[in-house]
Amino acid sequence: MNQAEAKVIVIGGGIIGCSIAYYLAKTGTETVVIEKGNRVGSEASWAAAGILACRASTRNPYAELCRYSLALYPTLAKELQTVTGINIEFIQSGVLCIFLTEDEKKNWEGLAQRRLKHGYSAEILSSEQVQTLEPSISKKVIGGVHFPEDAQVRNPRLVKALACAAAKLGTKFLTGHSVKQFLFDGNQVVGVETSEDRILGDQFVIAAGPWSHQVANFLGVALPIKPAKGQMIIAETVEPIINRPIHGLETYIVPRTDGKLWVGPTVEDVGFDDRTTLSGIHQILESAIQLVPALAEKTLLKTRAGLRPKGKGKPYLGRLTEYCNVIVASGHYKNGILLAPITGKLIAELITKDNTSLSLDPFGVNHNTAMSRKNKIEEEPHTHIKVTPRTLILGILLIPVNVYWMTLVEVKYYSLDGSCLPLFIQPIFILFAIVLLNLLIKHLKPAAALTQAELLTVYIMVALSCTFAGHDTMQNMFGAIVHPFWFASPENEWQNLFWHYIPRWLTITDLHSLKGFYEGESSIYIARNVAIWIKPLLLWGLLFLLMMFSMLCINTIIRKQWTEQEKLAYPIIQLPLKLSEDMGTKLLRDRMMWIGFTIAFAIGLVNGVSYLSPSVPSIPYIKMRPVWDHIFTERPWSGLQGVRISMYPFMIGLAFFLPLDLSFSCWFFFLLRSVQRVVGYALGTRHYPALNDQASGSWIALFFIAVWVTRSHLIEVIRKIMGMETDLSDSDEPMPYRWAFIGLIGSLALIGIFVNLAGMSLWVAIIFFGLYFILSIAITRVRAEFGTPHEIYYVNPHDIMATVGGTRQFNPSSLTIVSMFYWFNRGYRNHPMPNQIEAFKMAETTGIGNKGVWVAMLIAIVVGILTTFWANLDITFRNGAIAKAGGFKGWVGWESFNRLQRWLQDPTDPNPTKISFMGIGALLTFGMMFLRMRFLWWPFHPAGYSLAISYAMEYFWFTFLLAWLFKFLIMKQGGLQMHRRFAPLFLGLILGDYVIGSIWAIIGPSLGIRTYKIFI
Ligand SMILES: Cc1cc2nc3c(=O)[nH]c(=O)nc-3n(C[C@H](O)[C@H](O)[C@H](O)COP(=O)(O)OP(=O)(O)OC[C@H]3O[C@@H](n4cnc5c(N)ncnc54)[C@H](O)[C@@H]3O)c2cc1C
Repeated sequence: MNQAEAKVIVIGGGIIGCSIAYYLAKTGTETVVIEKGNRVGSEASWAAAGILACRASTRNPYAELCRYSLALYPTLAKELQTVTGINIEFIQSGVLCIFLTEDEKKNWEGLAQRRLKHGYSAEILSSEQVQTLEPSISKKVIGGVHFPEDAQVRNPRLVKALACAAAKLGTKFLTGHSVKQFLFDGNQVVGVETSEDRILGDQFVIAAGPWSHQVANFLGVALPIKPAKGQMIIAETVEPIINRPIHGLETYIVPRTDGKLWVGPTVEDVGFDDRTTLSGIHQILESAIQLVPALAEKTLLKTRAGLRPKGKGKPYLGRLTEYCNVIVASGHYKNGILLAPITGKLIAELITKDNTSLSLDPFGVNHNTAMSRKNKIEEEPHTHIKVTPRTLILGILLIPVNVYWMTLVEVKYYSLDGSCLPLFIQPIFILFAIVLLNLLIKHLKPAAALTQAELLTVYIMVALSCTFAGHDTMQNMFGAIVHPFWFASPENEWQNLFWHYIPRWLTITDLHSLKGFYEGESSIYIARNVAIWIKPLLLWGLLFLLMMFSMLCINTIIRKQWTEQEKLAYPIIQLPLKLSEDMGTKLLRDRMMWIGFTIAFAIGLVNGVSYLSPSVPSIPYIKMRPVWDHIFTERPWSGLQGVRISMYPFMIGLAFFLPLDLSFSCWFFFLLRSVQRVVGYALGTRHYPALNDQASGSWIALFFIAVWVTRSHLIEVIRKIMGMETDLSDSDEPMPYRWAFIGLIGSLALIGIFVNLAGMSLWVAIIFFGLYFILSIAITRVRAEFGTPHEIYYVNPHDIMATVGGTRQFNPSSLTIVSMFYWFNRGYRNHPMPNQIEAFKMAETTGIGNKGVWVAMLIAIVVGILTTFWANLDITFRNGAIAKAGGFKGWVGWESFNRLQRWLQDPTDPNPTKISFMGIGALLTFGMMFLRMRFLWWPFHPAGYSLAISYAMEYFWFTFLLAWLFKFLIMKQGGLQMHRRFAPLFLGLILGDYVIGSIWAIIGPSLGIRTYKIFI
């Protein structure tokens, strides 16, 4: 028996299977369609009448599904004609429904009224009007309703065209192969066994029409789909007798362009008997001739019969709860031809993006259909790749190297802002170096080489250490916690204003030691300095450790939903995954990758040389430059100032992997933001556009959206925690849900006690940390879904609290502690929470157990925090935090304590205008999300709005525009297949830029000079 492989295996080559294959092929997904017949579309999809009866339902969401599908037809028809030359004869002819009795009249007119009420078209006609429209119709007809939106298509041609187009785009069709069984690895479906082959795959789609229940049965899942037979006859006329499809007496008469008439169908509950029968033909003819008497004289050409897949009222579309890589797309009953395009599109989205443009929830397969097999399997233990001791040791050894290097170049030389990007620079460089070394080891001693799981575990540990060593966490901390005692002066009155509120156990007041810290020429390796610094640092470390632990608990609770169920895209992990795949051989052999790499590397090289030797010309506009500040100097146009252009290769690479609507929204809303400023200036008001407040509202709304989409999972988690019956298993989680919950409550309580002892009132602590975690979860969701940068400088708990509550409401002691916490609320660029969940995703993708990764992460957290203390103190005591170092630690303190001074000297009240703008930001975000889910054509992504009006797009809007343009053109020219060909080029841009950036950041400190930095 042969064994082949595919990414997606579609079982069933009817119209539904072929449509899914086509839409998948457009995304470049490697797909195999397995069809038991000798050709595709030989069952119901061939027998159908081809009426696209959108009128059939007015009840949402089914009506919406029908409407969207019909709307896809015009484009699909054009695409298929272009790609295959096949004309599928999509004609929006409308359908005329006629009636002969008062009862029928009542029913049809009722439907027409309902449709009109829902905004569709329907024309109620008298018998005369019907006769005028269609003179051949029986004089007994008492009226009719014309549904102009309904259409028809040549369904046999449509199936053929879909299959041809998919084949041209690379899909493989195995006809004459019947799927007999699924193949399992544990409880994971890994392949199918057909009458001829074994085929391995990642995702499986059951699209086997009325046989879908048999196929699902192989998995022990009872799918309530049964056959409903329909018969048709085909007659021939020389002269057309009707101009449009006619429907009456439960029969259609459909005129085709070639003069043929398709008449039928019957609806029969006779199991899998698919014969055409005399009684069936008789029934069709009797009704049809009553409607159009002239039909009796026409030639009977053929008859045909097919079996509709009949479910329980709606099609089943979605993943099986029991096997999340198996999708069902079946049960379309009388509307399979109508619903084929939307089914193909949504299932392709589900597979490729795990995010569908229309919600599939209403069409989900009943959760309670699983039979015994699932229960049996759940008891089987999962086998995971173990985290090996040598990886942990390597990780522990590399963390200090990484942390010291990062601190040195960010604090002293200010020559590589590696922690300021969602994909940290240094860990990628370190991974790249290890991969190259590993290839050498593989060549010399294959057994000793690190596996992908090992490479990634090391990467995860090193990347996690950046979340402490980076700018926006503990590097800031050193600036914030000691600042008031060194920079207090009689002018700023800090001593009187708030010194007494700062707990001495969380700061350093020893001026001698602070002199060493700020001015340098000293050493931390002096017993006195160690003794002074160790206690506050360990206590701050403890607080951060508690925060890390609560994030790990939250990530444990949401992990399964975001990574396994929704399968969010996690764009940020694509490069490390590809770089470590097959020990690096795959990506490093890709020519496209090297083209991108060379471009980015060459730019960084030339600009780096030019930086050291200005006579060498540099490549302009790579780094941020103002565009028109010198032109727009007068109000209101000066509102356009601050728009800066940059073409960072790495960010073009990263943004290329975003969905088009998001990258479009990011740059579009950024430009709109400047226009809003101009309007504000023109109106002469300082209250509008209040972008920071809009942004705050918008990010809070993103949190609620994230919770909303996770709600069903959270309910199951609660059931699990309470010991109630649920299918949700936590055996694979880093820790059981109950422990994660207890851990979360426990760590939050300890944080509460800690900050209360420090002087923050408990109620203020609840608000402050509540907002902090709201923003953290929103950032984590945006990162997991889109991988965008998230420096939301003006969105933070302290500003939201000051705006909504007014600083007057908070006691000075609480406000002082809020200011001491500025260090982890300044920008969120190296926020730990998204990095934690990305580590879990990498573990899932490569088969490393979550528990193993969890242990590696805990080790990395402790080692990361301790080495960050050491690196910062070593570097600052040698060089002086504001003497020879970059001065960053000074700014953070000034920002925080100048604001505290303002708050205390000039307390504020709640600001209704700013609160209103927060509300507007939230409403716009919710509104855009609603419109996006409701209308396929809606071009704006709410996260694009949130990112563009925060600080996050400041550096990058133009790179987003470029990436969007490249991607748009690539998709337009060559669809997703071309996209797939070009993807390594964009990965190369990131890698090349990061490598040259890192090389400069090694040369600089080695020679004691400042070198070119690739970012900012
Ligand atoms: C007479 C008639 C008239 C109709 N008119 C209309 C109409 O006007 N408009 C409309 O929208 N809809 C109409 N329908 C309904 C429509 O035809 C169906 O809903 C649609 O064709 C279902 O498509 P499918 O791909 O799910 O199923 P199918 O067309 O049945 O395809 C399923 C495929 O799976 C294959 N398969 C099954 N088991 C296996 C296995 N184990 N391994 C491999 N392959 C397997 C089968 O061979 C088959 O080719 C009509 C149906 C009939 C019968």
